[in-house]
Amino acid sequence: MSALSRKNLWERTPPRVKHALGAALGVAPPTFWLGRAFREQLAFANSAQHWSADESSAWQLERIRRIVRIAMDRSPYYKNLYTNAGVNYDDLTSLDDVRRLPTIDKSTIRNHCDAMLTVSKSAPGIDYVTTGGSGGEPMGFYIGAERSAIEYAYLVASWQRAGFGANSVQAVFRGQIVAPDRNGLRHSYDAVLRRHYYSNFHMTDENMGRYLEHLATIGDCYLHVYPSSMSTLTRYLDRAERRLPANVRGILAGSEIVYDADRAATERVTQLRYFSWYGHSEKLVLAAECEQSSDYHVWPTYGYCELIADDGSPITRIGDRGEIVGTGFINRAMPFIRYRTGDYATLAGMQCSACGRKHMLLKDIQGHRTQEMLVCADGSEISWTAVNMHDRTFDGIRRFQFRQMQPGKATLRLVPGDGFDHSRTETIRRSLDRKLDQRIVFDVELCDEIELTHRGKTTFVDQRIPDARREETEARAT
Ligand SMILES: [Zn+2]
Repeated sequence: MSALSRKNLWERTPPRVKHALGAALGVAPPTFWLGRAFREQLAFANSAQHWSADESSAWQLERIRRIVRIAMDRSPYYKNLYTNAGVNYDDLTSLDDVRRLPTIDKSTIRNHCDAMLTVSKSAPGIDYVTTGGSGGEPMGFYIGAERSAIEYAYLVASWQRAGFGANSVQAVFRGQIVAPDRNGLRHSYDAVLRRHYYSNFHMTDENMGRYLEHLATIGDCYLHVYPSSMSTLTRYLDRAERRLPANVRGILAGSEIVYDADRAATERVTQLRYFSWYGHSEKLVLAAECEQSSDYHVWPTYGYCELIADDGSPITRIGDRGEIVGTGFINRAMPFIRYRTGDYATLAGMQCSACGRKHMLLKDIQGHRTQEMLVCADGSEISWTAVNMHDRTFDGIRRFQFRQMQPGKATLRLVPGDGFDHSRTETIRRSLDRKLDQRIVFDVELCDEIELTHRGKTTFVDQRIPDARREETEARAT
């Protein structure tokens, strides 16, 4: 059995069995259990991140030619697509030539999933995964099981820039279902991977207080969080005037949009570095901050990333914004070649002046048609980023979310926290009214809880307008 499937198997082992085995197995470090492929990929990523731009480009071109060749030889969909476009892998003599290949998008995957495969879908080591959720129609595709170890190696190589080590302890707040232990604390420990899991479905003030007390007992550790979980925790720390225990060394936050104001609030309240990354379940583009800069450095050896304008032309000027188009090097079972992700970013440079890495730099990454949009009566959209109040408007509120069923109207759902009083509702209404300016008329509803998505994430807008072609930034679930 390969080391990779060993990790996958371990992650699927029931908690009770893990607990018993973990105590016995936990003497070996996670790098041992993660296996040789993980260790090799980590070493490769660590050396490749310092390549010159020419070295990276040459390597990327070779990889793209290889994946295009596999696609043309073995997948009926790509053979047809590239034959019609009059392009062959031999024609790709520079990265500029890659633009001769037509782009594909989510509808391609929905309509041609089977024909895109280069192997039988029942072949060993091929998984079917789905992304998506509440608003949009879920999308399913096939991917090789080896992806986990490869991706995890790149994540660890990224996190190392924030001081994390492959064998460091993690305190995870990311949507795992965690049952109460014998003391009623929603915590479990995986001794093999050295991960403490806490339930982010139960972040009441009382539970967060208990999480902090427990965190203080686990030694040096890194928080591994969704940005929304961290934001909930930050607001709690702030209003309860508490601090994270001193053994927490840093914050690793990914898989959701990071709002600058949330990052700033967390860094102010915790006095720790907030380190984030961008990735997605299709495993095409992975980008992470560096030691000094919070721009996203695109890993050149993970996949090929392009930024394109709406007319398909490449974005080359710093400060311009375009759609992230990815070509993955990892998934050979079902290649994604020039896939329009639906995510948008601003080009921040082609090398980092702070760390010297010759990587494409992105900032302000955002899903284009995410459910994080409110739709006005005239069909125009207001982005959540614009609506979000970065002052004390939501003090005393544990969670909040807009639910929208029809354009121009919405319901603001609030989960009161400790110390909430009803005059707050009016304050919130007035603050938001000023921003929304009658373009969205909303009422306020107090509720006991706001359901998280099936991945345990918070969305700020539960967008339910029928037929609105809204697709999640979903998953982004690395
Ligand atoms: Zn840098």
